[in-house]
Amino acid sequence: MKYLLIISHCILNTASKVAMDEQELKEEYEKKDRLIHSIMENNIQMIQLPCPEFLLYGSRRWGHVKEQFMHPHYYEECRKMLLPILSQIEEYLRYPEEYQVLGVVSVEGSPSCGYHMTCSGKWGGELSVDADEIKKMQNTCETVNAPGVFMEVLEKEFMSRAMDVSIMSMEEAIERLS
Ligand code: SF4
Repeated sequence: MKYLLIISHCILNTASKVAMDEQELKEEYEKKDRLIHSIMENNIQMIQLPCPEFLLYGSRRWGHVKEQFMHPHYYEECRKMLLPILSQIEEYLRYPEEYQVLGVVSVEGSPSCGYHMTCSGKWGGELSVDADEIKKMQNTCETVNAPGVFMEVLEKEFMSRAMDVSIMSMEEAIERLS
């Protein structure tokens, strides 16, 4: 039996993330390292999802909130870039005696790849306005219990194809593997 995990892109490639002080990502990176270690120890196979933000907005993008990605083009591009992944998963699901798809691993808090949590706020517009205005916008940003756009689309596609695949956080994946 081969066991497979579908992994959010930046768990395997942190170069795709929004440029920032990586100290702020310390906790996330520790989880990622524990997860990868566990994957290797348990001989789990991996399929890497594409990074929608890097593909659509590149390496020079700012950090966003979910609302900024909630537009038809982003939804549609997410759906399109998931199609080859969905076909691969579908094929593995056809042979349950040979392959077990353990699920998809999210990046909690991301406006795209969070599953239980995403970031939300009235963040948008021109960045050259005065500092007080920027502060006001920043203060509206919060973490909410909802999926990011990419995971929202993925879950919808799983449902419409009657594919029984769970989406889980890195912590949940580590627990599952242990
Ligand atoms: S969009 Fe997803 S894969 Fe890309 S950097 Fe953000 S969380 Fe990681």
